[in-house]
Parts: sequence; C-alpha cells; structure tokens
Amino acid sequence: MDKRNVVIIGNGIAAAIALAEAKKTGGSDVALSVIGKEEFGPYPRPKLPELVSGSLSSSFFKTNSIASGEHAYYRDPVISLDAEKKELLLKSGRTIHYDTLIIANGSVPNALDVPLSGLSGIMHFRTVADAERIISNVDENCTSVLIIGAGVLGLEAALAIKKRKNIDVTVVEGREYILPVQLDQEASLFLESLLVEKGLTFKKGVSLIEYRSGDGENLSSAVFSDGSEVNCTLSLEAIGVRPDTSPFKSSGISINRGIVIDDRAETSVKDIYAAGDVAEFDGKCPGLVSFANMTARVAGINAAGGDARLVLPSSSAFMKVDDISFYSLGARNGYSRCVEKKDGKRYERYFLSEGDILLGTIGIGSESNMTKALAMIGKKFSDSILSWD
Ligand SMILES: Cc1cc2nc3c(=O)[nH]c(=O)nc-3n(C[C@H](O)[C@H](O)[C@H](O)COP(=O)(O)OP(=O)(O)OC[C@H]3O[C@@H](n4cnc5c(N)ncnc54)[C@H](O)[C@@H]3O)c2cc1C
Repeated sequence: MDKRNVVIIGNGIAAAIALAEAKKTGGSDVALSVIGKEEFGPYPRPKLPELVSGSLSSSFFKTNSIASGEHAYYRDPVISLDAEKKELLLKSGRTIHYDTLIIANGSVPNALDVPLSGLSGIMHFRTVADAERIISNVDENCTSVLIIGAGVLGLEAALAIKKRKNIDVTVVEGREYILPVQLDQEASLFLESLLVEKGLTFKKGVSLIEYRSGDGENLSSAVFSDGSEVNCTLSLEAIGVRPDTSPFKSSGISINRGIVIDDRAETSVKDIYAAGDVAEFDGKCPGLVSFANMTARVAGINAAGGDARLVLPSSSAFMKVDDISFYSLGARNGYSRCVEKKDGKRYERYFLSEGDILLGTIGIGSESNMTKALAMIGKKFSDSILSWD
C-alpha cells in the first residue's frame, strides 16, 4: 500500500508539533515532508529574546531544530497552492504533491505606515535573521532605542536589548497603560514599576506619526502625536502580527483574517488542515504558543488519519518577560468585588461574582498560585490562596 503523503508548510512551533503528532499517529503508513522559508528547521521563536540579550547564540537555533521530516525543503517558500491538483508550487519552481496538507506558515509583523518608514534602523522581530539585524545595529552604532508597542513582544525585546547594552530604551504605547490586552490598569502599573526598576522608560498615550533622518538614510529620531521628538538609532515596531495567508489567496480555501478551520483543524477544503498563527478558529487568531500547540496537535493527528478535536481552554495567557512572569486567567468583567494582595515584587488580583465565585485572576511576579487559581475558576473562592509572604 502506498504511504499517505503528509506535507507540512512552515518551520515554526506549529509545524514541529504537527510533524511529531502525524509521525506518532501514522507511523510507517505516512511519509512526511516539511517546507520552510528560513534556512533551517523549526526552532522555538519565544527564545529569540535570549539571542538578542546574549544568553543564547545563533547556533542554538540553527543546530537545535526541534523536528525534521523525511524530506525537508528549506529556503524555498511555498508561493501557491492548487487544491484541485493537490499540488504546491515553491519559489524555486519545484512542485510538491500531497495527500493531506498542513498549513503552518505563521504570521507576519505589522508595520507602521508613516513618512520615512523605509529608513535603515526600522526593524521587526520575528526570526533569527531579524534578531541578528537587531544585534548588529545595537552593537555597532546604537545610542538609543525605541520600541513601538508595549505588548509582550515589545517588552521582551526592550529588556533583551537593555541587557545586551546599557543604552536608553523607550517603550511607546498608544493606549494609557502597558499590556492593555492582558492586564487591567492597576496590574499594568504594577508591572510597569518593575520594568522601570530594570531601566526601561515608558511613553504612553501617544502614537508615532513620522520618522526622521539626519543623513537621508539612517534613522535619527521619531516624532509623536503630542508634538514630542525622541532621538533614536533603532526603532523596533512590535505592533502585532497578521496571519500570512498570502500564498493561499487564490486557492479557494476560506480565508477571513486567518485561514478558517473547524474543530478538526480542517479548512473549508477537504484534506487541507491549518494550525498556529496562520489559522483562525471561532473568529479568533490569538497568535500565541498555546493556540499553536493545540491546533497543531489536532491537525497532525487528523492529517495522518486519526480523529482529534479542538478543545480550547477558556481565555488564559501566561507569559514571562525576562524573569518576571505574569498570567491572566478567566474573565475580568461582570465581577461584583475584587480581592487583591501585593508586595514590592508580587501582585495578585481575584475577580469574584456575587456569592464569591472566582471568575478570573491576574498574577504578576510569581506563577506559584497559577495552577491553584485555574482550578478554582468557576468555584467558590478560598482566601487560603492569599497566604504567601
Ligand atoms: C520574539 C518572540 C517571542 C514570543 N514570545 C511568546 C510568548 O512568550 N508566549 C506566547 O504564547 N507566544 C509568544 N510568541 C508568539 C509565538 O512565537 C507564536 O505564536 C508561534 O511562534 C506561532 O507558531 P507558528 O508555527 O504558527 O508560526 P511561526 O513560529 O511564525 O512559524 C512559521 C514558519 O513558517 C515559515 N514560512 C512562512 N511562510 C512560508 C512559506 N510561504 N513557505 C514555507 N514556510 C513559510 C516561516 O519562515 C516560519 O519559520 C513570541 C513570538 C516572538 C517572535
């Protein structure tokens, strides 16, 4: 019997997990191939800040690929999909046939559309190559850095650069407080105070309207909506990502913001699955590792002939910025009272309904109560959880 030919597009976390699950499910009945745009196999993208800070070297990413297929085509991105012929066209002109396909080519960073946005020194942070560009700018001539966007990526990048070289790092956030998606204002101000202690500067409630250059080519400053101008030789734009659906636009698969998948991680076209940042489930494209893990596991199993369904956890996020962990679990609206505890390094806030049922929680500085809090959501709150000193 011919082997089932499972082809995976992408060399990120979702591709690696889908590959491992397809291998486990299909065993010797499947042949697995991976196609990647970068020059090597899947690597853990959340570790990139450690490359920028200097704690890890590029060889860690280039040699510690977390998976490989029987056939691997790197540095050769997919440029189109013919779903009727079940065939992919790569940039090199090579065509690849599949029986089942997993699309896991991730997302691309959003870029600001402002005057002089093409200057040298304006960067994004997604790949090893991006990290290497940031490092050489910081090491060579950088005196002052702007980070645009105080989300998780922006904060991680800011601390990594500060650790690498003790220069001015200013984080700019359009809204009134940092990490507006994950935290409420009080928790956000607490986290900000920890980050200020680490040497970061914050500029909030303004947007960047224009870049400027001293010599015509290199970035020298940025101008903001409040009229202020900040000198900088590097501006790192961390203003979110969008699913990279471009190679599949004319393939006939249903695309909304991302590639739409059902609870089997299958797209609108039979035998084509999608996972990770490129996928949209239930109207959402979270752009998080937890979503990539879950969708890739289900896509890998189903593409290899198994049967698995997506069960996404209720809204939860856990992140670590340098050595500061923080989490946001469950709901933060519709509560009738809050219980809060903090010291100089740690902060927890619990959102309770009438009858003291725990709806959600936020924690900063320590993750030791996270599992207990998760188990308590939807149940009666017990203040024994506050007994830390
Ligand atoms: C610096 C950084 C830190 C992060 N930290 C966290 C964190 O702490 N917690 C968290 O939850 N999330 C974090 N994220 C987000 C997380 O990394 C992503 O959600 C996750 O990587 C998504 O995995 P993916 O495999 O879907 O996509 P990606 O990791 O983006 O992988 C997609 C791969 O496909 C390749 N590709 C693209 N187009 C093609 C093509 N046409 N043909 C072939 N290959 C292609 C790309 O080159 C890429 O290697 C971070 C992201 C970054 C950049």
